[in-house]
Amino acid sequence: MKNAPELIPLASVEPQPAVTCANCAACCCQLEVILLSDTGVPKRYIDIDQWGGEVMLRLDDGWCVALDRDSMLCTIYENRPWVCREFEMASPECLEERQGLATIYR
Ligand code: SF4
Ligand code: SF4
Repeated sequence: MKNAPELIPLASVEPQPAVTCANCAACCCQLEVILLSDTGVPKRYIDIDQWGGEVMLRLDDGWCVALDRDSMLCTIYENRPWVCREFEMASPECLEERQGLATIYR
């Protein structure tokens, strides 16, 4: 006869926080963001990569220059690049970035 599966008391199951930008340290804003079209990004926020393409400038801390370091929100949301608009919250790419940054603080 098979043993009954061991029951885990509900109280010992850690609730998983929802995947939302509100509980994320803007992990995806450390990625290289290529500018594919003109969405009105201020010129001072644009850098040129080694191949001559336009990208969002990143500061020494690794985050995009347009990120507000206190609120961790995008300061040019209405004019953010196409790549940022397409990056979907809770997508596999998003989860990968969240996981990658989380390991830094362990
Ligand atoms: S899209 Fe994902 S990785 Fe980017 S800020 Fe939101 S939760 Fe974080
Ligand atoms: S432009 Fe805004 S959304 Fe895009 S990487 Fe920079 S801070 Fe993040």
